[in-house]
Amino acid sequence: MNRQKLPHGIEWTRIKQVIDGEVIELPGYTWNPTGGCLHGCTWEMPDGSVTECYAKTVAERLATSAYQHGFEHHYWRPQALNAPLRVKDPSGIFVGSMADLFGHWVPEEQIRQVLDVMATASWHTFQTLSKYPIRLAEFNPFPANAWVGVSLPAGHLMKPEGGARALKAYLSHIERIRASVRFMSIEPLWFDVAPVFEAWLKQHDRLPFEWVIIGAASNGRKLFQPREEWVAALLEIFDRQRIPVFFKGNLEWSPWRNEFPTMQRMDRRFEDRPRIALAG
Ligand code: SF4
Repeated sequence: MNRQKLPHGIEWTRIKQVIDGEVIELPGYTWNPTGGCLHGCTWEMPDGSVTECYAKTVAERLATSAYQHGFEHHYWRPQALNAPLRVKDPSGIFVGSMADLFGHWVPEEQIRQVLDVMATASWHTFQTLSKYPIRLAEFNPFPANAWVGVSLPAGHLMKPEGGARALKAYLSHIERIRASVRFMSIEPLWFDVAPVFEAWLKQHDRLPFEWVIIGAASNGRKLFQPREEWVAALLEIFDRQRIPVFFKGNLEWSPWRNEFPTMQRMDRRFEDRPRIALAG
């Protein structure tokens, strides 16, 4: 497992929770019992350049010994399975920072072994993120300490209209997930997402997730900020829905927000879960 320390690392693994009235920041880790990904995400940047997935760049330039067959390959690392059990302090652990654990190519048996470890290591909070939400409900109910996330569809081979269509389908899949926290990663915010959520809310009382991450696009060191009106429209919806918002460090926005959801017990009715944001 890799510790996610300031100023680098994946900041949303360092979960803030209120314990006995005090705000505690958990240590953050990434954990990769599976590796590699076949989704092949790329994004076209506003300047016309095309960027690929950051994990692919890391795997094929910096971690070649661990990814001998390249990034677009499935790696199963059973020797890494018990790593969370050896960390005794409650931590936030992002599962599959170099993979999509729920990708269509990952054998069900391997996913279930990973979920079993998550359930056993009940003192940690695990976060997963997938671009294949159609498969997620197959693993219902998730361990009580799992936050199950879905990323915005990638911009490869898609125009914004295609992204909006895919996102609409994603929402239906997310709605079927039974987890204490469901979340969406909207990074990069590469098209105007708010109208898709507004359309959903015309037919449903609420959006089907309890936490959201918003970030800018990047190609190497070059950052591309989303349009201001896209972000403003999203914040208006999330505030109305009382969904906590976490800004990635690459987003330029004020006032800054790094909010987290509270863990809710699995035995509560999903409809009854309160939406409480913690100050960042
Ligand atoms: S799903 Fe994630 S890990 Fe897989 S290629 Fe896309 S961005 Fe990379």
